[in-house]
Amino acid sequence: MTGFWPAGHQSAAAFTFDVDAESAVLWGAPENARRMSVMSHQAYGPLVGVPRILSLLADHGITATFFVPGFTAERYPQVVREIVAAGHEIGHHGYLHEQPSAQSRDEQIAALDRGLDVLAEIAGVRPVGYRAPMWDLSWELPELLLERGFLYDSSLMDADRPYELAVAGTPSSSATSGAQAASSLVEIPIQWALDDWEQYCYLPDISGAGYIATPEQARALWEAEFDGLHEVGGCWVLTNHPFLSGRPARAASLGRLMARIVATPGVWVAPLREIAEHTRSLGLEPRSVQPI
Ligand SMILES: [Zn+2]
Repeated sequence: MTGFWPAGHQSAAAFTFDVDAESAVLWGAPENARRMSVMSHQAYGPLVGVPRILSLLADHGITATFFVPGFTAERYPQVVREIVAAGHEIGHHGYLHEQPSAQSRDEQIAALDRGLDVLAEIAGVRPVGYRAPMWDLSWELPELLLERGFLYDSSLMDADRPYELAVAGTPSSSATSGAQAASSLVEIPIQWALDDWEQYCYLPDISGAGYIATPEQARALWEAEFDGLHEVGGCWVLTNHPFLSGRPARAASLGRLMARIVATPGVWVAPLREIAEHTRSLGLEPRSVQPI
């Protein structure tokens, strides 16, 4: 793995936040809108969690990536503008947190384009990164992302560090010189152990079994994954949701984790866009992943 990361670094780490808010419990279940308490649980993210997390990131000098569904941007435009104003990256996360693998191709196109339009209109950004809601990428989406000029996706789980994902329907990288930029997406892998949903989320009849981990348990898991990935020169990507990790004790614990990672020699802490741009600069041969 020597030579993969920028000089002086043996691994990379990224803090990412999925600002799902209400959208995560509305897509496929619009009746949840009737449940005021459930809506309030989700609203905590943009209302309280995001400002606290922005402050935490500033304290530790970290630039992060926030994946924002279009519906969240419409409902909390000022919050999304504050994320942008603080210098963080905004990524695409669907319009209403649609699960791509459960949608037709046309439905996926509609969600993708509507999300892009809203982020442009409200936050003035054109994201280069995409994360599939529920980390449930469809086989069609990579091509749709490439057609829209996306540089990277962060939804797959088959590697310890970023790679070039060959996209079906586009010219192979060897067909013409310079074609790689148009025939592959950078994939920045994630994994379930590095998500706060399984640790913290409990919504009766919607998600979770009622077991809620302590912040120390969650941090111990994330630190163990960090140690493992750092050792093998991998890319540690933590995914947190402001409605979960924005609560005071959890945010304080997250701050301790940030301090430890920033202080670890040889770790490149960067937003996903920078990690994707660096990966693209390596000129890797795209990996073809065949549908089952
Ligand atoms: Zn999400």
